[in-house]
Amino acid sequence: MTQSITHHLTDALIMGYSAGTLPEAVNLIVATHVSLCDECRAAVEAHDAVGGGLIEECAPAAVSKDCLSQVMSLIRDEPAPVAAQVPVDPAIPAPLRDYVGTSLADVKWRPVGMGVKQAVLRTSSEATARLLFIPAGTAVPDHGHNGLELTLVLQGAFRDEDGYFRRGDIEVASEAVNHTPIADISEDCICLAVTDAPLRFKGLLPRLAQPFLGI
Ligand code: ZN
Ligand code: ZN
Repeated sequence: MTQSITHHLTDALIMGYSAGTLPEAVNLIVATHVSLCDECRAAVEAHDAVGGGLIEECAPAAVSKDCLSQVMSLIRDEPAPVAAQVPVDPAIPAPLRDYVGTSLADVKWRPVGMGVKQAVLRTSSEATARLLFIPAGTAVPDHGHNGLELTLVLQGAFRDEDGYFRRGDIEVASEAVNHTPIADISEDCICLAVTDAPLRFKGLLPRLAQPFLGI
């Protein structure tokens, strides 16, 4: 499945993820893409290795004599992990499960209009993460961005001015991008979307509705 991914993370996102400096919502979408994409996982590991190299060059710090035995006893005392009993929806990659639960059927959707639904996830406030449900063949209103918008496909596919996006693909849209994403006709599309500023809708109706929808 991973070889079909053609839209990847930017270097800036990979560096930020490796350094641990991204807002929670951005970190979540990057972690979710990395869990689906061998290419970006390798890039993250390469960055982590560089970071690890820097740590190795630091001067060693003194530790107490029984430090090792203390650590080993902590490891021994750790209870064995209990195997998960709950069946997990394969559409939900592991990093998302703490936020979404184990089944897309349990998501509490709120209507946005035109059949489009959303569920805002609980993260810190610097950026917003939401699941978007776009019915097959439906368009999200034409809009621009006041900041960064990241969109990762979990189910189905969508097309916009920038290309065709299927499961695992991530679109990185900046302030310069205006687009009208349209869900593929074959299947309802579910995406994880992250924004760090409100969207700019061109049409009057979406603009009027925007304050009530929180997008
Ligand atoms: Zn990738
Ligand atoms: Zn957008």
